[in-house]
Amino acid sequence: MRPERLNELFKEVQALEGVGPKMLRPLEKLGLTRLRDLAYHLPERFVERRAVPDLDAATVGENIIVALTPREHRQSGGRGPFRVLAEDAAGNIAAITYFGRAAYSAKKQLPVGEKRWVAGRLDQYGQMLQIVHPDHVSENSVAPAAQACEPVYSLSEGLTQPRVAGFVAQALSHLPDLPEWIEPGLLGRTQWPGWADALRLAHRAPHGEARDRLAYDELLANSLALMLVRASNRSQKGTPLSGDGRLRDMLSLPFALTGAQKRSIAEIEGDLAQGAPMLRLLQGDVGSGKTVVALSAMLIAVEAGAQAAMLAPTEILARQHHATLMQMAAGTGVEIALLTGRDKGRARESVLMGLLDGSIDIVVGTHSIFQETVSYKNLALVVIDEQHRFGVSQRLMLARKGRRPPHTLSMTATPIPRTLTLAQYGEMDVSKLDELPPGRQSIDTAVISVDRIAEVVDRLAAQLALGRQAYWVCPMVHEDESEDIAAAEARFASLKERFGSDVVLVHGQLRPEDKDAAMERFVAGQASLLVATTVIEVGVDVPNATVMVIEQAERFGLAQLHQLRGRVGRGSDKSVCVLLRSGGLSETARKRMALMRETQDGFRLAEEDLVLRGGGELLGTRQSGDTPFNVASLEQIQRLLPVAHDDARLLIERDGGLAGERGEAARLLLYLFERDWGVQLLRGG
Ligand code: ADP
Ligand code: MG
Repeated sequence: MRPERLNELFKEVQALEGVGPKMLRPLEKLGLTRLRDLAYHLPERFVERRAVPDLDAATVGENIIVALTPREHRQSGGRGPFRVLAEDAAGNIAAITYFGRAAYSAKKQLPVGEKRWVAGRLDQYGQMLQIVHPDHVSENSVAPAAQACEPVYSLSEGLTQPRVAGFVAQALSHLPDLPEWIEPGLLGRTQWPGWADALRLAHRAPHGEARDRLAYDELLANSLALMLVRASNRSQKGTPLSGDGRLRDMLSLPFALTGAQKRSIAEIEGDLAQGAPMLRLLQGDVGSGKTVVALSAMLIAVEAGAQAAMLAPTEILARQHHATLMQMAAGTGVEIALLTGRDKGRARESVLMGLLDGSIDIVVGTHSIFQETVSYKNLALVVIDEQHRFGVSQRLMLARKGRRPPHTLSMTATPIPRTLTLAQYGEMDVSKLDELPPGRQSIDTAVISVDRIAEVVDRLAAQLALGRQAYWVCPMVHEDESEDIAAAEARFASLKERFGSDVVLVHGQLRPEDKDAAMERFVAGQASLLVATTVIEVGVDVPNATVMVIEQAERFGLAQLHQLRGRVGRGSDKSVCVLLRSGGLSETARKRMALMRETQDGFRLAEEDLVLRGGGELLGTRQSGDTPFNVASLEQIQRLLPVAHDDARLLIERDGGLAGERGEAARLLLYLFERDWGVQLLRGG
């Protein structure tokens, strides 16, 4: 249970003054439902303003606070702007300008002849100095000091800056006194403020130490929680599995395993033989051959007389994996079933029976394979594919299902930088497929201006005429998804005109059945060109696809481009990836394109991506998108996570599981960041 001293912080926002039913929804949209959330709703940036005695002391473009006395109200035309001509202390005249309905309140706020403090950006309009829609107009006798540096918060519709600032201030007035959980030596070296001070400072001004401290808290909480889960996992009794190799020997593969595949299988085999459940991550770039490693792991389980399950993130991938496994394992006599949400009635019943009586050895499916109605005779291994879509806690908790927790093997094709691996996967052991199967053709990557799209279509036509298949990706860029869908539909229509019924379209607003049907036509080779928004399934394997065209490629991050490019180059034919770019590329976009041409090494691209990110110009990348963090930025994660990680380890080792004073404080920290599943495991032993 949550410690009492945190109760105040976890009160709902309704408890605050001014938060009525109408405010709830906009706040919830920002994830602000409790006082704690408001306290951690840190400013996106600050506006700094200089108080000036008069306009002579200010420069155009500057944010200022200045005393002005209105001399005249002037409405130009019916719909024109409303201007208040006002005089400063030196006798200069400036216009305070309003458009639209804002004029009504302006008239009242700026009565002729009465001095006001006006805060805003000084602009020039013709010969006239002006301030358009000032941020503040106030009556104080001296310049309002608080306006000299003001936080800017992210908002949602229905909220304003002053409103949010007011709620935040109220939340901050409820901060409890908490003991320090950061190691004293570190605090001494960094000069970080204490927790409550750090929160207050971080809302008041750009304060690097305060922001670092708050980020560090979050990183420390995460490391601690993951380590506690891992420690608890180690102390659990799993089912040791030793295979005799009998089934693996019966596999008739058309290729020899790579060194990396053999090494990974050996590492897995070693884990499975242990008493504690395996928690291993198999990291391998697209096309590196993870499937056969997964199959080998599952065969070890079957050789040992147990069952294995493979969890795929989507229906299509589940079907594809099922088909691939059936083909590879043909001749072994191993019973492999498919179970997805779409399977109903008799077929479903028979799979359920088979899992229960043990006649099915391996099941492949979507999350439905873990529904309560599904019982296994002896499930001992779970393989999770493309599991970056599962939360850290979900994933680790899966290992705790049932009386004897199964071994888990997670697989991801997203090469992530080393520091982020630590954040995402915490204490998992990692096997890396860092070697592509031999004979892979390198993919030619071309960056072409969108002006030359006709040439690209001609080149595409030549490939399709040879019987090859291709992808055409349209980005999701607009706030309003339907605009992008419209763009994708327009592209689809024009390509269809050229290539006929061979073209299919897949986007996020299609009904799942229609989407699946289109994908299936493409996978089966009935359609030769797939036009898609960025929703293409990760992991779809169509070796006959040799062309990938990506529109507005400059909008994508390196990791995404690499993922998309990995859809081609899977067969023996030469493949090409065309990055269609618009004019006027930014510096970082240019670098990304150059890197894409230069290398196909996913791990290298991931590292470079991390360096280049943060420009905020990419599709759907929150600053620390793809990480489990809200407070820490990517830069802070890289700089502070290794420290937090070591500190967490020391804390757990030294205090033997969060006993002692700092240990107590650390428990509070875990609750504060809602990583309390860590604490609960500790208690459960
Ligand atoms: P991943 O899931 O890692 O993206 P897959 O398991 O789908 O990759 O494998 C990609 C392709 O490579 C498949 O067609 C597979 O049969 C083939 N493959 C896997 N391992 C090897 C190998 N050692 N040598 C040659 N081809 C391989
Ligand atoms: Mg795969």
